[in-house]
Amino acid sequence: MNDHSTTSNLSPARSHPLGDPAAPLVPPAPRRPARESKPIEQVFRKVAVGLNTIFGPCSREAFGILMYHRVTDVIIGQPRPTWNVTPAQLEEQLSGLLRRGFQAWPLQRVLEYHEKGQALPSRVFVVTFDDGFQNNLTQALPILKKLQIPATIFLATRYLDSTQPFPSDDWFLAGSTNVPAESWLPLTTAECLRLRQSGLIELGAHTHAHDDYRGRPEYLLADLRHCVKILQEKFGIERPTFALPYGTKYNGFAGPELSEVARKAGVRCCLNTEPELVTRRSDPFDWSRMFAGDIDTSGTLAAKLGGWLSVLRRIKKLIVNSPLPPPAE
Ligand SMILES: [Zn+2]
Repeated sequence: MNDHSTTSNLSPARSHPLGDPAAPLVPPAPRRPARESKPIEQVFRKVAVGLNTIFGPCSREAFGILMYHRVTDVIIGQPRPTWNVTPAQLEEQLSGLLRRGFQAWPLQRVLEYHEKGQALPSRVFVVTFDDGFQNNLTQALPILKKLQIPATIFLATRYLDSTQPFPSDDWFLAGSTNVPAESWLPLTTAECLRLRQSGLIELGAHTHAHDDYRGRPEYLLADLRHCVKILQEKFGIERPTFALPYGTKYNGFAGPELSEVARKAGVRCCLNTEPELVTRRSDPFDWSRMFAGDIDTSGTLAAKLGGWLSVLRRIKKLIVNSPLPPPAE
């Protein structure tokens, strides 16, 4: 039984984005999390957790940036929210990382260290949330406050104050009255101001329209400049950090052309979603972020941030790409 077949009696209020026929029709999000649930990845995660527990992080100079989206409880009998962790999972993941000796830094602080050429202490990580869901305020912030963990929320500015779901939201129940509105609603401007007043939250750019910018550098430039202008006018942010929507390199949602555009638009970095750690010498316009979702625990996130999952994936790639031995005589 698939998710949708359980909800035929529901009436999700999906309409055209913002009720505006000219609004962009965005592509569905690349299914990076689906890759993470493949059997081989599940094996890798278990092995990586073991290696990390025995040896600690394998890369002491690198750090990791975690990427969250939605934070809401799962309602029994309803399709599971996509791109989600429950509040309990978020607390377990982050408190477990702190217990293992990791420390969360603001993205801007990591960038300052990088710009000055200063080395980071080991086990630093950064927390980010994409798009700007209302539950980042109602569900995530109390946990971040309790644990004193700073985070960046990347806003798709076109949808600030909207009462419609994000056009990119692929959860079947986004917009439905059968689930709490905060589970899919975009943040308002007033809520963003409250988030900033907490002293823990930085706001960053995630483009204005959250559209498909592949092969459209001029469009991205105009759109991102507009996003930067809104962040400046509404929140006084001069040079925001920036995360590309979708952000995967294998299908062109990230790459040198789009990074170059980001540089021109006046943002401070350009983050993609390759599941890699960031090394000291790497370019902030090519920094990666790691997916953190409901299949993760603090143990799997520690293994990702410790670099072990990347090592295992690299070994697999080497084996798969190595030439086959000659057939036996
Ligand atoms: Zn996004």
